[in-house]
Amino acid sequence: MTSDISVRTAPRDVAVVGAGMVGLATAWFLQERGVSVTVVDRHGVAAGASWGNAGWLTPGLATPLPEPAVLRYGVRAMLSPSSPVYVPPRPDPRLVSFLGRFARNSTAARWRRAMDALVPINRRSLAAFDRLAAGGVEAVTHDAAPFLVAYRNEGERAPFLEELDHIRAAGQDIEFDTLTGSQAREIEPLLAPSVGAAVRLHGQRFIDPGDYVHQLAEAVRSRGARIITGHAVTRVRDSADSVVIETSDRVERTFDTVVLATGAWLGQHARRFGVRTIVQAGRGYSFSVKIDRIPAGPLYFPAQRVACTPLGDRLRIAGMMEFRSADAALDHRRITAITDAVRPLLRVADLDNRADEWVGPRPCTPDGLPLIGRTNSRRVFAAGGHGMWGITLGPATGELLAELMTSGRTPAELAPFSPTR
Ligand SMILES: Cc1cc2nc3c(=O)[nH]c(=O)nc-3n(C[C@H](O)[C@H](O)[C@H](O)COP(=O)(O)OP(=O)(O)OC[C@H]3O[C@@H](n4cnc5c(N)ncnc54)[C@H](O)[C@@H]3O)c2cc1C
Repeated sequence: MTSDISVRTAPRDVAVVGAGMVGLATAWFLQERGVSVTVVDRHGVAAGASWGNAGWLTPGLATPLPEPAVLRYGVRAMLSPSSPVYVPPRPDPRLVSFLGRFARNSTAARWRRAMDALVPINRRSLAAFDRLAAGGVEAVTHDAAPFLVAYRNEGERAPFLEELDHIRAAGQDIEFDTLTGSQAREIEPLLAPSVGAAVRLHGQRFIDPGDYVHQLAEAVRSRGARIITGHAVTRVRDSADSVVIETSDRVERTFDTVVLATGAWLGQHARRFGVRTIVQAGRGYSFSVKIDRIPAGPLYFPAQRVACTPLGDRLRIAGMMEFRSADAALDHRRITAITDAVRPLLRVADLDNRADEWVGPRPCTPDGLPLIGRTNSRRVFAAGGHGMWGITLGPATGELLAELMTSGRTPAELAPFSPTR
């Protein structure tokens, strides 16, 4: 643990801005430490990225997004209209700056450094879910038994096996075995005959993320928190002895401390407090289809960048990385691109009879690391920028941040994630 002597008194009354996984988990763990919490969201609970995502709790795969293969792949993919990566033809200067920094971080050496930073928080991720369950959060986490990663052939699978070697070399636990296409199909008959090679991962879990986050909100509320929805925070002002947040209904409320947990919108208020890292929306899409036989765990098609998760009697199918404004409208071409990509690989049912079509913004940082901790104001904290992994890492983030805020000491796991880095 590193010590931070400038924060001496624990806050008693905290505002959390953003009712996604990260904000609500932070609220819950602050309550564990006796802090009174008010959560404010401009729309509602799980209104951002925390609803229609794939819901994987996969510390074994929670790696930094910038890496040499993603860069090579991204440049190639951007030239194709049906590609799972989309960058507007005339990106704005902020996006150009983000992509430039992202590219500079996409080296093997920087990936390794970022991975070293993620491993300690990854290790705490599933235990943090268990603490929420033990503390009364009723939503369940399911064991992914199995978690199948599927490919058309062994050649397509080879880069993933190499990546698993790198992940293990960085100290991240991940157990797996390799399967032929027919072995994979025996486990999961939903896989089409075109699947010729697979990997089975062990020790991972999954949730229904929307349901989970709503139940977390219920738990936070039942422990006395107020959750104010439908009003955006328009201003955050800190003074010597308090912090004032103003909402779109022109109401001002005063707290000891505020946590900005606004996902892809983090920059809007955090920039004023010295958070210079760009948080760019990497928008993903999902939809669900009805299936007759529910798989026992997620299915992942890395070559197509498509993730599937069983949710009740439906299969959620998710994908795409669209670097655009977090608030842009859903673009149906992306849904079509995901459907077309997955059609030859799944023996489903009716891919054209879709429900729950959704788009949400992954809060991506150019170095692939989240922003968790104090800003340059001792009353303003940030918790966000988890990119692809805010569901897996949300509870561990909340637990560690609550420790920092109430003890004044920065847990070692958070040291690499300083929001003012
Ligand atoms: C297709 C897809 C699949 C994914 N799959 C996975 C997965 O399998 N596993 C995983 O770990 N992660 C996954 N992710 C990533 C994960 O969804 C995000 O990292 C995570 O949801 C981020 O949570 P958050 O609480 O930081 O942000 P959000 O959930 O976006 O919450 C931010 C909240 O802040 C609110 N807000 C913004 N501005 C204001 C304001 N001014 N005033 C008040 N409120 C405001 C918003 O309304 C929103 O509710 C996926 C993402 C996508 C898009």
